[in-house]
Amino acid sequence: MLQKKLITVMSVAALSIAAFTSALTSQTAQAAYPDKPITMIVPFSAGGPTDTVARTIGQVMSKSLGQQVLIENVGGAGGTIGTGRVAAANPDGYTILLMHFGISTAPSLYRNMKYDATKDLEPIGLVTEVPMTIVGKKDLPANTLNELITYLRANKSKVSMANAGIGSASHACGMLFMSSLELDLLTVPYKGTQPAMTDLLGGQVDFMCDQTTNTTSQIKGEKIKGFAVTSKTRNAALPNLPTTDEAGMKGFTIGVWHGMWTPKSTPKAINDRLVKALQDALKDKDVIERFANLGTAPEPLNRQTPEALRAHLIAEIAKWSPIIKKAGVYAE
Ligand code: ASP
Repeated sequence: MLQKKLITVMSVAALSIAAFTSALTSQTAQAAYPDKPITMIVPFSAGGPTDTVARTIGQVMSKSLGQQVLIENVGGAGGTIGTGRVAAANPDGYTILLMHFGISTAPSLYRNMKYDATKDLEPIGLVTEVPMTIVGKKDLPANTLNELITYLRANKSKVSMANAGIGSASHACGMLFMSSLELDLLTVPYKGTQPAMTDLLGGQVDFMCDQTTNTTSQIKGEKIKGFAVTSKTRNAALPNLPTTDEAGMKGFTIGVWHGMWTPKSTPKAINDRLVKALQDALKDKDVIERFANLGTAPEPLNRQTPEALRAHLIAEIAKWSPIIKKAGVYAE
């Protein structure tokens, strides 16, 4: 009896030593974090607007973390492939996600989602809300938004609108654009709007919606035509471009919020370190300046937090779900 009790006491002691040692090891691992480069997954093509945001903040986050932040582009299926990659990654802080509001439209658009962004990812913070622009190839015979609409109506069987796949920002903007004009046009999906921009520059597609982080320099350089910016007010980087509202599409606004996540179960100490690195990057003067040149700005500090992103994602999924159901668009 006594022997049995002793064994029990000993095994409890052994268990607690084991638990203590493992807690200590994981604390040491977290204390040492990061001790190797971190991969930031961007679910769209390199050189596009989401990628540009990631690379801009990634460089400064590297300084704050004392380790390189490497960008990996995992494009396809409107950003769901790259997002799914992070949801399934090891929760050790070495794989993080930079994704935009498409993360909130995907659950209503895709019938076979392999992850639930509200449960399988840990929020770090909101990054920036980027306006979109409606842009067209240089030789389109239209110079204003109204002229573009007239041209589209007259040529609806010929024109093509590019996007970055179902669930992308350009897809959502294009859906809203077509539904508010009651127009049904041919859409051409790409893995991101960088390859779409290449085709727009080459004249293979006619027009698209895309973030200012991809279109500002092309509009300024007159390589493409800018018809309108989709924010409520004009954009300081493109002051001559009217808002969609001013140009005739009353109430048509769309902004592309971006957030950062880690896989579910990433230890809090690691997430806290990433929150700090994100906040350091978003107050960096070079980041603020680069964002301004690209027509955007960091989110306010109180939104650069896990709590703000968690609440925002839930609200956005609830906002988009009825709109998408009504539109009847979906993908497998
Ligand atoms: N602008 C793209 C979108 O429409 C994403 C990208 O290529 O970064 O979602």
